[in-house]
Amino acid sequence: TPRKIAAGNWKMNGLRADLQEARNLAAAFPAASVDILLCPPATLVGAMAAALVGSAVRVGGQDCHQNVNGAHTGDISAAMLADAGAYHVILGHSERRADHGETSTLVAAKASAAHAAGLTAIICVGETEAQRDAGQTLDVVLEQLKTSVPDGADKANTIVAYEPVWAIGTGRTPTLDQIAEVHDALRAHLPDAGISLLYGGSVKPANAAEIFAIANVDGALVGGASLKASDFGAIVAAL
Ligand code: 13P
Repeated sequence: TPRKIAAGNWKMNGLRADLQEARNLAAAFPAASVDILLCPPATLVGAMAAALVGSAVRVGGQDCHQNVNGAHTGDISAAMLADAGAYHVILGHSERRADHGETSTLVAAKASAAHAAGLTAIICVGETEAQRDAGQTLDVVLEQLKTSVPDGADKANTIVAYEPVWAIGTGRTPTLDQIAEVHDALRAHLPDAGISLLYGGSVKPANAAEIFAIANVDGALVGGASLKASDFGAIVAAL
């Protein structure tokens, strides 16, 4: 069975003072039965990894470049994240796809770079509200899955997150049946059925347990509710 994973995505939030939230989370789960992961902004990856040494909480990045190194001002390579203490990197988040024009083909190249650096890629897919209203949800997410997940992806180096764009930061979530439908379809099309499938989009302590009870949901990718150890800890506990 796929590993259970609670991953927090801090997005563009967090200064050094906020590392205390990571320490508090680690203190609450001295020996976790699930994988716990925080993905702070790149500026905090090294400091957070240092703060969490010896704990059950791991650190990830939020993006990496597809190349190994070179003239790419402002970008960060997968090896740099690994060198700073990261084990994972989120790739193809809808905010990267929307804000930076990232295509699924680019996401696959980034995921290959992550794999080459020894990082686990958390590859995000998800439909917009207009696509859902048009009945295109499964077509969209399966096309994103097929094109964003590179050759060589397996349960050891890849996690897939389903994040409906309209559920991110909105307080709105799909029905449990809608989540189940998408996760069932994703599972059937994964290159390795052991890859963990996370749901993301307005997960909070109040809805985590019912979402985690859905077949083929192996955990969550949490945005806003991952910023406070108390909220994220309640979600981890529900898993
Ligand atoms: P929220 O949990 O804030 O809706 O964000 C979800 C998300 O985008 C995680 O990557």
